[in-house]
Amino acid sequence: MGRIHEYYHATCLEDAFAKARELGSAAAYVGGGIELVLRRNAEVTTLIDLSQCGLDYVKATPTGIEIGSQTTLTNLSRSSDLQQFAGGSLAYWAGRIAHNNVRDMITIGGVIGRNQPWNDVVPHLVALGAQVLLYDGAERSMLLADYIEAKQAGAIIKSVLLPSENAGASGFMWRFTRTEQDISTLHFSSLIHTDGETVSSANLVFAGRPGHAALYPQLSQELVGKALSHTTFAKLAERAPAVVEVGSDLRATEEYRRELVHAAIVYLEEHMTGVTQ
Ligand SMILES: Cc1cc2nc3c(=O)[nH]c(=O)nc-3n(C[C@H](O)[C@H](O)[C@H](O)COP(=O)(O)OP(=O)(O)OC[C@H]3O[C@@H](n4cnc5c(N)ncnc54)[C@H](O)[C@@H]3O)c2cc1C
Repeated sequence: MGRIHEYYHATCLEDAFAKARELGSAAAYVGGGIELVLRRNAEVTTLIDLSQCGLDYVKATPTGIEIGSQTTLTNLSRSSDLQQFAGGSLAYWAGRIAHNNVRDMITIGGVIGRNQPWNDVVPHLVALGAQVLLYDGAERSMLLADYIEAKQAGAIIKSVLLPSENAGASGFMWRFTRTEQDISTLHFSSLIHTDGETVSSANLVFAGRPGHAALYPQLSQELVGKALSHTTFAKLAERAPAVVEVGSDLRATEEYRRELVHAAIVYLEEHMTGVTQ
């Protein structure tokens, strides 16, 4: 890793972006700083601190819940707005992922900026339909699902917006880990809208495959228009292992991960029907 020569305290978004533009690949924005301490691009010699840019907030807006990029997992978990959103799944898991010491430091901007394949927050936000608000001289927004496919180099992640139309849906996360503080061998997140006892729309996301977070619209479509019944989810559990691209690494074999994909859908059924399988 390269040596850091300058730690720059930006006073606002405009100031941070101007500094980053001046230095190009020699600069990196700081969220909680955890990943930047562990590993960073060898070219980076200046860190741009965003803590004085007013980005630590969770607020309800007319279009949804906006989460500033400097907000830590601990503060996400304590937000009453997030505890109400999509059954509170994001708030619940933000208070359980990793260890409480690091949850006090990990920021939502840093999580998205790094987006490890096994990360739990990014796939859950993708399932919740999150948009990312960027600043690169002007503000613009895009779906987080699109942003993680094509990151915008140099742009500051200002915030994340959880759209209000998803507030009443059911958010769900299942992460398979060996211990509570372990990283996921397989991650599954979903958001399901229902109309009475029928599924009206669904987002299904797998991560830690060991590949990155990926949406599976073809699986989601198999749920739409179907009853919330054992038959519906049993069919999906049979089909999903053939659709989700999994592989082997040091943590698990491809075959083992296929079993986990099946298990993830069984847990989704339990969550949606309240019946233990
Ligand atoms: C021991 C340990 C266990 C963990 N376990 C898990 C786990 O099980 N599940 C899980 O989901 N996470 C886990 N994490 C958290 C995960 O590693 C985070 O992705 C990481 O900590 C990033 O958060 P940060 O705020 O520290 O990022 P930083 O190190 O500050 O930044 C990471 C990257 O994002 C960029 N960046 C930061 N903020 C912005 C911004 N506003 N705009 C643009 N770019 C930005 C930085 O330049 C850098 O490239 C764990 C972390 C640790 C240390």
